[in-house]
Parts: sequence; C-alpha cells; structure tokens
Amino acid sequence: MNIHEYQGKEILAQNGVAVPKGIVAFTVPEAIQAAEMLGGNSWVVKAQIHAGGRGKAGGVKVAKTKEEVSKYAESILGSTLITHQTGPEGKKVKRLLVEEGCQIIKEYYIGIVVDRATSRIVLMGSEEGGTEIEEIAEKQPEKIFKEVIDPILGLTPFQARRLAFSIRIPNKQINKAVPFMIGLYEVFVEKDCSIAEINPLVLTEGGEILALDAKLNFDSNALYRHKDVVAYRDFEEEDTKEIEASKYDLSYISLNGTIGCMVNGAGLAMATMDIIKHYGGEPANFLDVGGGATPQKVTEAFKIILSDQHVKGIFVNIFGGIMKCDIIAEGIVEAAKQVSLEVPLVVRLEGTNVDLGKKILLESKMDIITAESMADGAQKIVSLVQRKGEEK
Ligand code: ADP
Ligand code: MG
Repeated sequence: MNIHEYQGKEILAQNGVAVPKGIVAFTVPEAIQAAEMLGGNSWVVKAQIHAGGRGKAGGVKVAKTKEEVSKYAESILGSTLITHQTGPEGKKVKRLLVEEGCQIIKEYYIGIVVDRATSRIVLMGSEEGGTEIEEIAEKQPEKIFKEVIDPILGLTPFQARRLAFSIRIPNKQINKAVPFMIGLYEVFVEKDCSIAEINPLVLTEGGEILALDAKLNFDSNALYRHKDVVAYRDFEEEDTKEIEASKYDLSYISLNGTIGCMVNGAGLAMATMDIIKHYGGEPANFLDVGGGATPQKVTEAFKIILSDQHVKGIFVNIFGGIMKCDIIAEGIVEAAKQVSLEVPLVVRLEGTNVDLGKKILLESKMDIITAESMADGAQKIVSLVQRKGEEK
C-alpha cells in the first residue's frame, strides 16, 4: 500500500526523523492559511499524488509570497499531473502539501528496501540525490553504497556512519545523519514497510539534515496490524479494479497488456503470464481467484477483468485441486449472463470435477474455445487477439 508524501512525513516525524514543517491543504484558501501558519518567507507548494517525478512535471513550486502560494495552489489543485510514474493518463491532484522552503546546500539519496538476493533489509545511499535511483544505478553505479542489515542487530551506528561517509555527508553533519538513518530503519521495521525512500535527503544552509521527500510503501499482508497506516489509505489514488478485487479477496494486479487472465494459485498465475508472453502476447492482469472461490467470486473476477478497456481476450486457466472446475464453470456462465462478452474466451480446465465443468460450459451454449493444455490455450488466445488486432 502506498501513502502520500505528507502522510509519510507525519510518520517519520512521530519517530524522530527530521522533516521540514508542512501542512496539508485541500483547497486554495487552506493553502494560503497553511502558509500563514508556517510563517517564514518562502514556501513550497507540492502536489500530493501517489507518484514521484512531480518536480519535473510542474507539481512542486517554490513561492516567495503568499500571492504566489495562492497562484501555484490554484494552478496545481485539480490539474492532471503527468509524470514518468503516472502513465500517460496522469493523476488528478486533489491535495497539496504546503511546506517551509528550505535553503538547500546539497541533495542526497537514502533508501531502504528488502533485498531478495541477501534476504536482508538493505540501506542504500548516494550523493546523487534528486535523481532517480534507477538512473544512478544505470549511469553511475559506483555512486551507490549499500549496507546489508543484520535482523538481530538492526542498523548499527557504525553502519549508518560508514554510509554517511561513503556518500560524503560533511563531517559536521554525520552525527545528525546517523540518528536520521537509524530512525528511518526503525520506521521501516516497525511499520512493515516494503520501501522507504528519501529522495532527496538534504543538507540545509542552517546545517540541518532533513527528509525533503518521503516515499513509504507498506507490505499489504501486514496491514492488519497497522490500523494507523490503513487510516492513511486514499482510495482515489488506487486502481478501481484493484479496490474491487480486494473487496472479494481476489489477488488482482492490473498490467498493461491485452489478455485478461483468470487463474487459481499464484504460481500458476505467474506461469500463465509467462506462457502468454512466450507466445507473443501481453497479459492485462495477474489474477489469482484462490482456492476457496465461490461462483460469485468468479463472477466478480470476470467483471473486473472485463472492466479493463484494454482487454481484447480472456484466458481462463484452472487447475482444479481444492478449487473445483464446476465452480469455475458456473461462475463463468453466470458472469457471461451479467456482462456481455464481446471478446474471445479460451478456457482450459483440468483436475477435480473437470468433466462436470466442461459439461456446464457446453450446455450454456456460450461461445467458448476450449483448450487441451496450457500451451494450447495460450497459443489460441494470443492468435485470436492478434487476429482481432489485424482486422481493425
Ligand atoms: P518529486 O520527487 O516527486 O519530484 P520532491 O519532493 O523530491 O518531488 O521535490 C522535487 C524537488 O523540489 C526536490 O529535489 C527539491 O529540490 C525541491 N523541493 C522539494 N521540497 C522542497 C522544500 N521544502 N524546500 C525547497 N525545495 C524543495
Ligand atoms: Mg523526490
């Protein structure tokens, strides 16, 4: 789960990680009021969307007067911001963060992630702040430093100090950078984050070390023990299809392709996406209906797949173990009744009650293409979708 920058900064501040003063605003008058409450003589008006790259897209503006705060708030609020992380359709800005302007001397990058290679939490840092970590990794990999954290010891002051030296934080500020990093690590562990990224971390003229940006992502599987984090959820920022799916306890991830997939079991779902790609197609989603699905759940899953405008064909690939093939078949027939199915549907059923499942599909008189194997099904749906594309 993702949250807004201002929410991330609230969490950081509560845990002793230094952030600039700032106030969230939902309207232009609120933005002006926020600037008045903050005082000082420069403010930064920042679009709050669940995507980075706002600065380059015009979503972060420095104001020198209250009039400028008003002007920038007016132009950013309600606008659609297109950054390299939003996709071409962009994201509409509904909240702003009005923050005290900082006199920046240098920008750094600090990030904490879970590293699969070492099965450890890893702290990363670079003196090339403000730039995307992916870009630094590509162009100047020697400028990224890492500290692999032992889960028993946690991030030790020694490691934090070593990283601070590696990214060339001035000696005078090392003693501020160390508690900053340790605090960030504590938040990461305490709140079950999957990413905590501070880009940029800044050194200010006043000699402070501050998190100027904050991106916190949380492990959805651990949200049940973090009511405070769940309270930050902003449904308007999330994919409506994924919200629907979560209501029915379906594991659904929206992707960019044209072939909708309905599969049971995460492993089979991954393999199905692979085989679609192998035959030259692109999956439109990852969808695991799970083991204990009811016909209603399958119906909802179908509707979610079809609500995606990009879907040009559907591939149902079910191995009936705990999940029975007749339940899936009933769901498919029910869904087809409720929504008009205008794209080709390829179904491959195997396992428990497969004959009954096939019978239900056959008797429904629906226009279904059956497949004998996974490879057969994948080839069929890919060629059907490609043919449809060529007809246009
Ligand atoms: P994004 O990563 O989405 O572009 P950031 O929060 O990183 O957004 O802001 C982009 C840039 O704007 C920063 O790298 C920094 O140079 C500047 N900036 C952001 N907040 C402030 C602030 N409070 N004071 C001064 N400059 C800021
Ligand atoms: Mg940033």
